[in-house]
Amino acid sequence: MHIETIARHLAAMGTALSLTVSAPTRDAALRASEAGVREIERIEALLSTWRDDTPLARLNAAAPGIPVPVAPELFNLLKRVFEWEEGTGGAFDPAIGPLMKAWGLRSGGRIPDTTELANARRASDPSLFTFEESSLRVSRSSAAAAIDEGAWGKGWALDEAAAATREAGATSGILDLGGQILAFGEQTSVAVAHPRDRTRTVGTLRLKNASVSTSGNSERGLLVSGRRVGHLLDPHTGEPAPDFGSVTVVAPSGLTADVLSTAFFVLGPEKGLALSERLRAIGVVNEALFFSEGEEEQDLRVSMSPGMKALLELAAAGAPISLSLSKKSPEGGHK
Ligand code: ADP
Ligand code: MG
Repeated sequence: MHIETIARHLAAMGTALSLTVSAPTRDAALRASEAGVREIERIEALLSTWRDDTPLARLNAAAPGIPVPVAPELFNLLKRVFEWEEGTGGAFDPAIGPLMKAWGLRSGGRIPDTTELANARRASDPSLFTFEESSLRVSRSSAAAAIDEGAWGKGWALDEAAAATREAGATSGILDLGGQILAFGEQTSVAVAHPRDRTRTVGTLRLKNASVSTSGNSERGLLVSGRRVGHLLDPHTGEPAPDFGSVTVVAPSGLTADVLSTAFFVLGPEKGLALSERLRAIGVVNEALFFSEGEEEQDLRVSMSPGMKALLELAAAGAPISLSLSKKSPEGGHK
């Protein structure tokens, strides 16, 4: 079969978007690539809280106690996303906005005092949002409560964009939104970077009909009065989650990969792998790959879920990497 491929590179959702789609004709490939780009822009206009004119931003500005009508798409998405809070034992919190603000994570970073932190923790409780199924309305019970799309918006945008390109005739595609990648119809190789040095590849993943998302602090850790403040917060403590290294998640959907990479980072390798296992047991397909730094600078420990091994090839060159599979020794690190 004849195949035409179109590749586009542009800025979207505050990051870089690369979209490669293939279709039987050039017209179809062009149409599909345009549909994918438009869809990412549409999701950004739905979910961005970096501007105040989107439906999600308006929800975050709603008067407390007054239900706001929300379009079915956003209502259902938010319900799904909020369910992940329980699904991750609270490691993932879509209503983490107040804590993000307290740590100044969108404005260069700051250290909140004890009172501020306690208030922000209380205000980051997802149960401050109420979903009225019958009327498709959402309300928040505190003026401080705010939904943050940082850990799941790009994943959802990838899912929606992939669906849009398919509907427009694409037979395969590789979409990369700020490093989170979704591939359908064809296989692609994805480089996994060293947690501290993104220019160094420590492994390669095979990806097909799935999405891969990495969470770590290499790019976005902030330095505030000599203290490193990571942008992934532990909702249980209100503090930045301990920075062990990075975690990469492969899942059938962009949304799941995005949510889980954040949750697994917050949990760390041991608890993260345990949750990955529990989720798989209840039918949530996911594979996880943790890189943890050892005491020595060049010492990088790898631990992963059982199915990850088949997707991964570790870089042979450079510093030795020790490998361990999950379950019996989730901490990994046999040297
Ligand atoms: P990336 O920044 O590369 O997209 P993630 O997908 O892990 O990485 O998302 C991190 C973002 O998620 C943060 O910048 C913040 O907006 C939000 N966030 C931080 N901690 C949490 C958490 N525990 N639960 C949900 N969202 C979080
Ligand atoms: Mg995420």
